[in-house]
Amino acid sequence: MKIIDVQTYVLALDFRFKIGAMPPIQASGVLINIKTDEDIDGWGLAHFNLSNNAQKVFIDEALSRILINKDPFMVEEIYHEIYHSSNRITYGIPHATSGIQVALWDIIGKKTKQPIYRLLGGMKKKVRAYASMPRGFKPKAAVGAVQSAIDLGGFTGVKLRVGGRGGEPGAIVKEVRDAFPNLHIMIDANSYYLTVSEALKFAKICGKNEIEWLEEPMPSDNLNGLTKLRRESPVDIAGGENDLGIFRFEDILSKECYDIVQPDVTRCGGFLQVKKIDAMAEVKGVRCIPHIFGFGLSLVANLHLILSTRCDWLEFPFYPEEFQILEEPIKVEKGYVYAIEKPGLGVEINKKSFEENVIK
Ligand SMILES: [Mg+2]
Repeated sequence: MKIIDVQTYVLALDFRFKIGAMPPIQASGVLINIKTDEDIDGWGLAHFNLSNNAQKVFIDEALSRILINKDPFMVEEIYHEIYHSSNRITYGIPHATSGIQVALWDIIGKKTKQPIYRLLGGMKKKVRAYASMPRGFKPKAAVGAVQSAIDLGGFTGVKLRVGGRGGEPGAIVKEVRDAFPNLHIMIDANSYYLTVSEALKFAKICGKNEIEWLEEPMPSDNLNGLTKLRRESPVDIAGGENDLGIFRFEDILSKECYDIVQPDVTRCGGFLQVKKIDAMAEVKGVRCIPHIFGFGLSLVANLHLILSTRCDWLEFPFYPEEFQILEEPIKVEKGYVYAIEKPGLGVEINKKSFEENVIK
């Protein structure tokens, strides 16, 4: 079996309708389609970034040359060739490398007629999901949005983003905790606080309100600051969605920055890099709960990974399911998401949505 063609597509979708009090949102990303000489193809998604077009051109001009004529089962060979030929520092633009790895595993699954989670070493058949909310809510609106999540998916956990536009972070935390005394609440500050003392002040509010974890309280490059914060924080500190590959996570884990690391299959180098990071974290007694946001292929790829690890939460982007651009969108049933048992990723891109939203 060998790779004969690589195609890339930039998609962008605007959403003007709302669920509850949801702020308007745009989705984007680069879809990668790898074709083989056996009439089997694979799809992957490279996580959105500031210039999806730059990523597309990089794959078209540089990475596709590495892929043509390769055996798609040789995922480690392909990973390392991209890694070394891009001078290691850039990992061949990590999002692009990750999307390629996902598409290769989709091919491997289709060829062997197995879902990816089984090929990676199945651990479970379902996982509880938490609703991951966009930013920008005022406290009262945040309560309304959480209620919609509970009503629509039976979620037992919800993550709210704070900092920047929207309400005062402490007020959001208190309002939502008071309204939902038994809910698992996660808070994501997306690097909002620039100093340890500011972040610690907010972490103490999170601690008082029994928050499950505080995510990216400070810029994720500030490893020394995060180490200091974690030592003092009464609440678990999470992060790693913007960090890439095993060497970076060794720095993070050895500095003891986080209680929970959050590598994302569609950003961090693909399934095997995240499996390795999960093993490194397990040895240190740290949880590994992948980050997920963007189109449905990102959710599906990370779902397969999670079902093959000890991870006990799935981040479920809480937006209209059309955003997934899948023929059969992934659903949450009474707070759980179940394994997809079809070969490979086990999903089909929604052709109508693809045609309407692909940038030509
Ligand atoms: Mg986050």
